[in-house]
Amino acid sequence: MGYADLRELQTALTTASDIASSLQAAPTRRDADQLVDVLRQALTAASSLSTLTGPTGCAIHPNGAVDPLYGDPEDPLPPGYGKCLLCNDRRRRADAKPHQPYHWDRSEHALRRSA
Ligand SMILES: [Zn+2]
Repeated sequence: MGYADLRELQTALTTASDIASSLQAAPTRRDADQLVDVLRQALTAASSLSTLTGPTGCAIHPNGAVDPLYGDPEDPLPPGYGKCLLCNDRRRRADAKPHQPYHWDRSEHALRRSA
């Protein structure tokens, strides 16, 4: 579904670009309506892309388990923890052994921020 949304977005944007490029100095109402329609399709497809990362919002484990403590007001997760149970579990193990280097944390942050 995510891939289909991406294809739909690319197709709609290409079509919008083609329509815009072919417009004359005084575009007709029909041209303008057609452009608005295809841009709406692009917007809808772009909005659907945010579901690509799955329930965890994690780029590595998009369909993994959500940490049951996520969003718990009485026992909040430490700063930097996300919704992904697998990643949080790794963070907990790394926090328990502070002398261990954990380079994975940095790359994962980069992925998370770009997502
Ligand atoms: Zn994860």
